[in-house]
Amino acid sequence: MSKALSCQTNFIRQIIDEDLARGVHTIVRTRFPPEPNGYLHIGHAKSICLNFNIAIDYRGQCHLRFDDTNPVNENMDFIESIKNDVTWLGFQWYGTVRYASDFFEQQYEYAVELIKKGLAYVDELSPDLIREYRGSLTVAGQDSPYRNRSVVDNLNLFSQMRNGCFSEGAACLRAKINMASSFMILRDPVLYRIKFSDHHQTGSKWCIYPMYDFAHCISDALEGITHSLCTLEFQDNRRLYDWVLNNITISTHPKQYEFSRLNLEYTILSKRHLKRLVSEKLVEGWDDPRMLTLAGMRRRGYTAASIREFCRRIGISKQEAIIEMTALESCIREDLNENAPRAMAVLNAIKVFIINLPDDYEEMLSMPCHPNKHTMGRRIVPFTKEIYIDRSDFSEETQKNYKRLMIGKEVRLRHAYVIKAEGVEKDGQGNITCVLCTCDMNTFNKNPLDSRKIKGVIHWVSTKYSLAAEFRLYEPLFTSLNPAAAEDLLTTINPNSLVVQKGFVEQNMQYAQTSSPYQFEREGYFCTDSVHSTPNKLVFNRIVSLRHSLLKCNV
Ligand code: ATP
Ligand code: MG
Repeated sequence: MSKALSCQTNFIRQIIDEDLARGVHTIVRTRFPPEPNGYLHIGHAKSICLNFNIAIDYRGQCHLRFDDTNPVNENMDFIESIKNDVTWLGFQWYGTVRYASDFFEQQYEYAVELIKKGLAYVDELSPDLIREYRGSLTVAGQDSPYRNRSVVDNLNLFSQMRNGCFSEGAACLRAKINMASSFMILRDPVLYRIKFSDHHQTGSKWCIYPMYDFAHCISDALEGITHSLCTLEFQDNRRLYDWVLNNITISTHPKQYEFSRLNLEYTILSKRHLKRLVSEKLVEGWDDPRMLTLAGMRRRGYTAASIREFCRRIGISKQEAIIEMTALESCIREDLNENAPRAMAVLNAIKVFIINLPDDYEEMLSMPCHPNKHTMGRRIVPFTKEIYIDRSDFSEETQKNYKRLMIGKEVRLRHAYVIKAEGVEKDGQGNITCVLCTCDMNTFNKNPLDSRKIKGVIHWVSTKYSLAAEFRLYEPLFTSLNPAAAEDLLTTINPNSLVVQKGFVEQNMQYAQTSSPYQFEREGYFCTDSVHSTPNKLVFNRIVSLRHSLLKCNV
């Protein structure tokens, strides 16, 4: 087994390198172990990239295993969405999809082994009393009165638990470790609890389900995982992970390593909170384009490559940090700047009449689809007497440093001619209904003959040949940098997280493929929304705005 081929290194890869060099392992096996109780978010992407890239780089294997030990919150929709998201991100798990529930029978046998060794007992304290007896960080726990039952009694009672003789909460199986341990997790943790819930994989076969800490380490070991990678909040759980594996008869003992989880500004990355946003209808669903779920980001127009690149840049360490939103945005901008075809869209339209052109003037202008990728080809955009420009690109008053259209001043229409504003027409209320311009027909894709300087370039579409469209502009869902710290999440919801604007796009957009991204010049990167777009209605999501430096475009 050779060392990793590509990719930057990190402390986990260094450990793997050493393990391989010392011959501790000959193959590297990792796993991504989501609980199917929600959709994956960008935090999970960090874990997916870590685990799958290690398998790729070390020519090892990465399993996809559902940690399905709590059927109450899990379902098949979540399972399907997770499989779909992992595949979309560009990864393929080794072999079949696995489930912790594949091992329920073995886990049960290991629990029986612990009981036989006097290392587990059936407790009949109520859940409230178990909590009370556990003590706190400063107060040692207290032994349960049921702690010293005989092995025979425990075996009997555990089998009764399995057979449905107890009601939920009336009994549980606990490890017998140490009620005075300074690690709370070791104060006789619960290993099995009773739940009369059907399970998406095992149906009604079981009414007792193992706890995460018991099921996870055993599943890792049975699958031959070599490096079990998880986030830092599981640091203490490692003691229990090792305790279980040290006390059962199993031939492999994977090692758990923890790294810091991803936190992002203005974002919440916890399925519990995301679920609340969905169930209280504060968003359209798990795939709302404002949600940083992989389904939401995909619908918004993020590419898988940009998310992988983001995960590469943030790296892996034990340092807790909140990553700036701009770090994520630069990844998608860089990708789309390179790869998204250009088009024109006017989001907040005002009409322009070009008074020196005949009424039926039509000219088919050929424009490049990308400023420096000629292989992307060219497109035809009709230029007519009547066009739309953006309201913010015209000012009736003369303003200093305003490089767009003003009365008496000239501006270039992108990929077309130089026009000059001569006057306006207004309605009864004094609102401008149209800007009257003249066009210098000697300026197509070239500077005026007398070399007058034209500073501004604005985008436009023909009124006759453009298509009406809806534009959905997004801001973060929360106004607070760290919404998780807010007392109530709802107080930090951003009222402007979605702004809907009606405007026009060049007619080539009738062929826009669902979710394929475009740069609408000067407005940002957009893609059609897979939910709101219909054959008769074009709806675009703004994926991300342009960087300031890109706002200036040249002919
Ligand atoms: P959440 O906190 O969102 O409910 P979770 O940890 O309960 O997430 P799991 O389905 O158990 O979600 O997570 C699967 C894997 O993804 C775990 O190994 C977990 O450590 C990792 N993971 C979850 N959230 C993040 C994150 N923000 N950054 C990095 N890894 C994460
Ligand atoms: Mg979890």
